[in-house]
Amino acid sequence: MDLLLRHGRVITMDAERRILADGAIAIEGGRIRAIGPDREVGVAHAAAAEQTRDLGGALVHPGFVDAHAHTSSDLIRGFTPKADPNWDPIDHAFYGPDGPDGDYLGALLSCMEMLRNGITTFCDTGSSRDLARTARAINEVGVRGIPGHLIFDVLAGPDMEPLVHSTEECLERIERQVEAYPFRGEGRAWCAVTLSGMGLSSDRLLKAAAALAERAGVPMVMHQSWGANEVAASEKQHGARPLFHLADLGILGPNLTLVHMIRLDDAEVDLVARSGANVVHCPNASLRRGKGAIRVGRFPELVDAGVPVALGSDGMGGKRDMARQMHLAIGVQREVRDQYPVLTAEQALEMATLNGARAVGLQGEIGALAVGMRADVVIHTLDRPEAHPRWADPVDSLVFFGQSATVDTVLVDGEIVLDGGRFTRLDATDAYRRIDEAAAGFEAMLGRTAFAAWPIVD
Ligand SMILES: [Zn+2]
Repeated sequence: MDLLLRHGRVITMDAERRILADGAIAIEGGRIRAIGPDREVGVAHAAAAEQTRDLGGALVHPGFVDAHAHTSSDLIRGFTPKADPNWDPIDHAFYGPDGPDGDYLGALLSCMEMLRNGITTFCDTGSSRDLARTARAINEVGVRGIPGHLIFDVLAGPDMEPLVHSTEECLERIERQVEAYPFRGEGRAWCAVTLSGMGLSSDRLLKAAAALAERAGVPMVMHQSWGANEVAASEKQHGARPLFHLADLGILGPNLTLVHMIRLDDAEVDLVARSGANVVHCPNASLRRGKGAIRVGRFPELVDAGVPVALGSDGMGGKRDMARQMHLAIGVQREVRDQYPVLTAEQALEMATLNGARAVGLQGEIGALAVGMRADVVIHTLDRPEAHPRWADPVDSLVFFGQSATVDTVLVDGEIVLDGGRFTRLDATDAYRRIDEAAAGFEAMLGRTAFAAWPIVD
C-alpha cells in the first residue's frame, strides 16, 4: 500500500452517495484499493502502508472536473475591454504573430489555478495552436488535461481567416492530436476530439470527426447553441434547430459532449435526453457576457430529464474554480426563477464530479472515490474559518461556505501534486515570474487604455 489517508470526513460520490464521518482511503498503484470507515479500512491497512496521513477530520472529496476551459487565454485575462463586448482586437493581438506564449504560459497558469482549487481533470475545447506546449504545461503541473486545437472549417467572417482550416487539415490535426496524446496514456495530457462547433464546422467535418472519435474510443467535445444567431442560422441553412440537425447527421449520442447549450427549446431538451449526449453548463462565462444561461437556459429541465449536466469554466471570463461554477449554477437559478431550491447543492456536486467525468469520457475512472477508481483526491484544511463548524452537512458546507478556499492537498492518480498548498512538481515563484513577464510584454503591446477603464499611472 503506497498511501493510507486516515480520519477524513469523506464525500465519496459513490453509488449510494455515502459520506464517511471518519473515513480512510488506501491507495496503491495510483488507484483506490480500499475505502470505508477508518475503524475498518484504516485499521486493516495501517501496518502495510508505506506512508500514512492523519487528516484529523478534514473534508475529502473526489477531484473536480472542469469539463470546458480555454487555457491559453488565461495569460491575458484582465486585458478584456469593459465597455465593448467585442474582444476581437484583443484576440487578434493575442493570436497574432507577435502575441505572447499562451499555449505554454497561459496553460501553465491555468493548470496551477485548477489544481490549487481542487480540479484534477479538465478538457480544453480548443485554444492551443501548439498542443505540445500546452501538454508540457499540463505535465509540469501534474493535473490531468485534455488540450485542444482551435479547429473549424467554416469562415464566419474575414477576421477569422487566419484561424480557419480546410476540412482535410482539420481532420489531420485531430488525428495527430489523438495519436500524440493517447486517452488513458502514461502522461497527464490526454486527448479528445475537440471542435469549435457553434456553426463553424461543416457537416462533413462533424460527421468525420464523430466517426474518428468513435474509432479512437474518445469523446467528441464542442460548443453548441451559445447564441440566438446560431439557432437562426441553422434554421435558415438546414431547416431545423441545431440539435435536430446534429441528430439528422447521426452524431447526437452518448459520445458527444456539447458545451453551453443555452438556446434550446422543449423539443431539443427531450431530444438530448433521449440521445444520451452530455451537456456542459458554463454559468460564469454566460453571466460575464450576459448570454442567458440562467435567464433563458433550461438546465433544471435538462437535469430533470436525466441529462448528465457537467460544469465548465470556459474562456477569458472563467476563473478556474468549480466551486464558483457550482454556486452560480444553483444560486442564481433560484433568484431568476423565484423558486427554492430549483437545483440542490448535491446536484451541483454531481455536476462537478460524476457528470464531469462522463463529459470527458472517464465515467467509472474518476469523479467518485470508490474501489478501483483512480485516486484523484482533494483534501481540505481545517485551518480556515470557512471549514467550520466541521460537524455540519459537508455537502452544504463545501458548496456554500468552504468552496475552494479550503483546498489544501490534491492527489492525481495517487500522486500528491499539491501538498499543503505547495506545488510539488514545479517552482511556483519561477512560474509566476515567467507568466508576468509575458503579460507585461502584452500590456506594452496593447497600451493600457485598450483595456483599463481607470487610468493606470506610473
Ligand atoms: Zn468555450
